[in-house]
Amino acid sequence: MTRLRILAIPKRFRALISQRMKIRITKQHIIKFFKRLGIAILSLVVIFFILNWIFPLPDKVEYSTMITDNKGELINAYLTKDQKWRMKTELEEISPLLQKTIIAKEDKYFYSHPGINPIAVGRAFFKNLFRMQRTSGASTITMQVARALEPGKRNIWSKIREMFRAFQLEIKYSKKEILQLYLNLVPYGGNIEGVKAASLLYFKKNPDHLSLAEITALSIIPNRPSSLVMGKNNDLIVQERNRWLRKFAADKVFTEKEIEDALAEPMNAVRGTVPHYVQHLSYKLKKQGDYSIKTHIDLNTQLKTEKLVEDYARSQRLKGIKNAAVIILDNKTHKVITYVGSSGFADTTDGGQVNGANAIRQPGSTLKPLLYAMCFDEGLLTPKLMMTDVPVNYQGYAPENYDQKFNGYVTVEYALEHSLNIPAVKSLQSLGHDKLIQKLSECNFKQIRIDQHKLGLSMILGGCGTTLEELTGLFSSFANKGVYFSPSYTSKDTIHKKVNVVSDAAAYMVDEILSKVNRPDFPLTWSATEKMPKIAWKTGTSYGRRDGWSIGFNKNYTVGVWCGNFSGVGVADLSGAEVATPLLFKIFNTIDYDSDEDWFSPPKDCEQRMVCSETGLPPGDNCTNKILDEFIPLISSTQQCNNRREVLLSADEKISYCKSCVPETGYKKKLMRITEPEMQAYFSENGMSYEKVPPHNENCEIIFKGNAPNITFPVNGSEYLISKKNPEPLMLTCKAALDVNKVYWYIDDKFYKAAHPAEKQFFAPTEGPVKISCTDDKGRNRNIRITVKFVNL
Ligand SMILES: [Zn+2]
Ligand SMILES: [Zn+2]
Repeated sequence: MTRLRILAIPKRFRALISQRMKIRITKQHIIKFFKRLGIAILSLVVIFFILNWIFPLPDKVEYSTMITDNKGELINAYLTKDQKWRMKTELEEISPLLQKTIIAKEDKYFYSHPGINPIAVGRAFFKNLFRMQRTSGASTITMQVARALEPGKRNIWSKIREMFRAFQLEIKYSKKEILQLYLNLVPYGGNIEGVKAASLLYFKKNPDHLSLAEITALSIIPNRPSSLVMGKNNDLIVQERNRWLRKFAADKVFTEKEIEDALAEPMNAVRGTVPHYVQHLSYKLKKQGDYSIKTHIDLNTQLKTEKLVEDYARSQRLKGIKNAAVIILDNKTHKVITYVGSSGFADTTDGGQVNGANAIRQPGSTLKPLLYAMCFDEGLLTPKLMMTDVPVNYQGYAPENYDQKFNGYVTVEYALEHSLNIPAVKSLQSLGHDKLIQKLSECNFKQIRIDQHKLGLSMILGGCGTTLEELTGLFSSFANKGVYFSPSYTSKDTIHKKVNVVSDAAAYMVDEILSKVNRPDFPLTWSATEKMPKIAWKTGTSYGRRDGWSIGFNKNYTVGVWCGNFSGVGVADLSGAEVATPLLFKIFNTIDYDSDEDWFSPPKDCEQRMVCSETGLPPGDNCTNKILDEFIPLISSTQQCNNRREVLLSADEKISYCKSCVPETGYKKKLMRITEPEMQAYFSENGMSYEKVPPHNENCEIIFKGNAPNITFPVNGSEYLISKKNPEPLMLTCKAALDVNKVYWYIDDKFYKAAHPAEKQFFAPTEGPVKISCTDDKGRNRNIRITVKFVNL
């Protein structure tokens, strides 16, 4: 069968040649002929591939960057470098209707020809030859793509090149991809290229939602882009559209009903503009270089929040606070649903184009919740544990509270609620700031990672650089059982970086503390009549009042608010509590007003226990007042309270004894509350009374002669010369017994500092005799005396 068919054609051929050449055609001749034909075809193929290698297809097309929201609607787009709206139509957006209409109009044999249509080419060639004029019509969709890729003068050579390119295209791409390229490159007049841009700009919809009438109208524009301008020549376009629709009817491409409906469809197309929503985020994402960026922005929430921010910023202008930024994170999906970089992108006087959401700013107190949660996990703290808020000094670093006051005894939860600085610095000191830096680095805090070797204890009071993006992401981990998920901005961010920041229990304790409304940073301006969904939040105010922060969360959302000036100017009225929090509340009221979501429930590893109200420690035998506290079994400290101890006193209560020096008779026992030396100092300085244990028996051998700390520097009885010009502090060192954890230094009987025995201390002495005392935590004391002289050195 095959052989017969092969031989069938050469039979006529054979006859023709044999007549002219007057030679006999033999079987050998035929074989030879086919061999030559084969070689010729092979050579052509080889030549094609060589040419293909030398002149590769110029198919790198730059498209406009398109940003879409969570519903796939265009929310922003950018012109290409050649100032075109050339938007990429995705394969799935080429609907069967669009495909069918374009092919019926442009290239009926698109699916069967190899890039060029030989019959059409032949016809056009003869027409050109005899009429000496150019006609179109021979161009296939593939050739039109070739022309769009290499625009320029049209002549016989460009036509040949187009055909070559058409073959290249057909070899490299599928038919559907070629159609996609065609739809992306076809010109629609002005700076609009491609069906997607045309569809969006004229009909405000994606190409897969176009009707037959709309597709037909669009398909006639490229033939006469200068005379058929949408919005200007609509009547002419409708005429031409209907002519084509009738042609489709005649060719039976569509049913009569379909054509009827299309003919009746009015055309109201006007040239629209490209939307420019969510400017800061769009611009940030555009830099990633993708043409199509699918964000998770919920446009409704975004626009409402933008309006709130704009109005709120306007209300703060009189105070000199001109900008604000907001991020809203969905806690369940970890998607960023709203991103406001400034109070108005168009505002050129106050730098509205600056993106405040990813600007590096000082975080104020906003890192404190993380610190305390980490301390809960290390067993260092529990919510009701008593801390001391009294002056401290860490090698010259003496933090102060926001109001420059000290509060004496405070619980951990009070310290966090009131954002006290000294307990925070003390907690960071005992946790180790390296651990905090490590955790923040894991949670993508970029500037902190860069500065990690420069940062010290002051970082917990805001002495470091963070962004609103980073802080909002971090806070959402408190709403996610202590697990951090890197926020997702686009559909590409599908794999979350997951970090176990703190335990479920520690996160819960922070949620509880930060959701109390009876706190000092509750905004005074917030009217009690306004309703609020329950949220937990933390405020922060940076040094010099340059930044006001308020970051809040519940189960549904984490909202980060920053207020300040892009110029960096500090403002006396700027604070996280009074400026940022009201905006935070307004946003929660708007986005989550009717939330029926429950509050966080206590996790399994968070239990309750009774503690002594005076120390927050599990009660000892003498503790009287007990309260309920949360703790983490096997983690939280189980050290018992021994705040109230039985003290041995003389009958007149003027002398105290230890077991070794107590006389056989004439003494009594008394339960007394023991106050640490640093608190004694705080109480005396503030004129507050406390229960004092009388001085220890002077003749006691243990306390005064036994294992009392040995002051190794300065040396007892020495004279120290200090430069008047550059007075340097004197060092204090001691050697204490092995069972000692803490020593207390006194200068001239005044408490100076509590420290670890191995820690060096420094103090600035006054001229003359100085008494230096060192007492250990067992009550053993040592005194030395030195003389200080100021001299001209
Ligand atoms: Zn107690
Ligand atoms: Zn004694």
